[in-house]
Amino acid sequence: MIPALMPVFNRADLAFARGDGAWLTTTDGRRFLDFAAGIASCSVGHANPHLVAAIAEQAGRVMHVSNLFRIPEAESLAERLVAASFADSVFFCNSGAEANEGLIKAIRRAQAGNGHPERTRILCFDGAFHGRTLATLAATGNPTYLEGFGEVAPGFDHVPFGNMNAVRDAITAETAGILIEPIQGESGIRPADMRFLQELRAVCDEFGLFLGFDEVQTGIGRTGKLFAHEWAGTEPDICSSAKGLGGGFPIGAILAKEEVAKYLTPGSHGSTFGGNPLACAAAGAVLDIILAPGFLEQVRTRAAILDEGLDALLRDFPEVFTERRGLGLLIGMRCAVPAGDVVTALREHGMLAVTAGDNVLRLVPPLTLTEEDCTRALLLLRETARAVPARTPEGAAA
Ligand SMILES: *Cc1c(COP(=O)(O)O)cnc(C)c1O
Repeated sequence: MIPALMPVFNRADLAFARGDGAWLTTTDGRRFLDFAAGIASCSVGHANPHLVAAIAEQAGRVMHVSNLFRIPEAESLAERLVAASFADSVFFCNSGAEANEGLIKAIRRAQAGNGHPERTRILCFDGAFHGRTLATLAATGNPTYLEGFGEVAPGFDHVPFGNMNAVRDAITAETAGILIEPIQGESGIRPADMRFLQELRAVCDEFGLFLGFDEVQTGIGRTGKLFAHEWAGTEPDICSSAKGLGGGFPIGAILAKEEVAKYLTPGSHGSTFGGNPLACAAAGAVLDIILAPGFLEQVRTRAAILDEGLDALLRDFPEVFTERRGLGLLIGMRCAVPAGDVVTALREHGMLAVTAGDNVLRLVPPLTLTEEDCTRALLLLRETARAVPARTPEGAAA
């Protein structure tokens, strides 16, 4: 018989009763170092006192009102995101997919408003992941995820990640914009070349296209900057955010320049829950922490500790790990054995991580992890590397 909870996920048989910083405790009292962090979402750690207090305080005052009224918590959150980023204006929603859905709509609407209603197509990249709604699945383009869901939503073209000639060749009179993850997350923590991102900016300017960055996974301090595109010294016209923004509380956002945002006029887009007082109080508390002086520097310092230790693991266990990639605390370790085996073995050693595509072990700890957590993680990874049985990854050449 089908479980009451729809079996959409392959779940590990672990349930957690509580958390504390980068640690989780199961219902039967076992402790795990959490380098999964709700898939890069628990940005400020579990049971963060500042976040917990902000949520409790807001819930005790007013949790939800309609967007038909002013929401001071949303106004101040938007102002802070605008002050800290390239953006002039922000729209709040509830998830990454919804943010990207809105980003796609905003790009099309801005083209239409600019006198180019024929420009509707969005140029995306092989290996992308933009979400699970019908439009963001089409933007994702992965045939496995599209299987059985009928006609693919029209309006998306795909080219190889990092190939500027292919980008230029794919631009037509109907192209509205480009959507890219500065570091592809789901498909294996694959960073775009910084120069490629700059060239995308230039090609968008040349052809009157809008540049959209999907920073759902890379944003909110994950790479050691508020947004990953800051590393490239280039700015999008519009950018999506979610995962780390609420520190585990569901909230997404679209950040945009005025020239795009101004076309999302009253009634053109919306969300019942998007930007409600509770979600915005949570995200506000997250920003208190992430934008505090020295915090992003600390993320980079912690990342440097992990990078050094992981490079040592690469040298010591070439039969397990073959490559380290990523930026800041968005780390991928490409594996010579099935990455799923490493995740399982890691769990047996008391540490949680997730896989990503391309046989990659994905390490995305809370940004607030301590130096001691870093040391501990490297130790557990080393013990795991010793224990993991040699096995060829499925689909890889022997
Ligand atoms: C997780 C993710 C999404 C989808 O976010 P949801 O909140 O699951 O809808 C979109 N884009 C990227 C880059 C992601 O990592």
